[in-house]
Amino acid sequence: MEDCLFCKIARQEIKARLVYEDEEVVAFDDINPQAPVHSLVIPRKHIPSMNQLSEGEERLLGKVLTAARKLAEAKGIHQKGYRLVVNTNAEAGQTVFHLHVHLLGGRAMHWPPG
Ligand code: AMP
Ligand code: ZN
Repeated sequence: MEDCLFCKIARQEIKARLVYEDEEVVAFDDINPQAPVHSLVIPRKHIPSMNQLSEGEERLLGKVLTAARKLAEAKGIHQKGYRLVVNTNAEAGQTVFHLHVHLLGGRAMHWPPG
């Protein structure tokens, strides 16, 4: 997608602190972190939200989640714990319509989330 912010980050047309990348997945630190560790893990492929994820993309979503797990290990938060969040549409607070998994950690999380 030409105008999508996260597609541009994946293509490195817009600067972000990339913390992981492979052929299908990119991760970068969130510009407005909500925890000591706050990264976003995205497929390079433009999928607007979970609502547009098709059955053929299950493996790709698995790769995104595995990359998030590896990143939690690399950031040293995997033992204490971390949270993976996928906001979907307005009531969940989705603001960027390119599917992304938030990796949050480095502090105690509250439940239920707000
Ligand atoms: P969501 O509200 O789930 O759609 O999350 C979008 C996230 O993208 C927010 O946490 C923003 O802080 C983050 N964000 C927006 N623009 C950028 C950017 N240029 N680089 C890194 N993170 C960004
Ligand atoms: Zn996109």
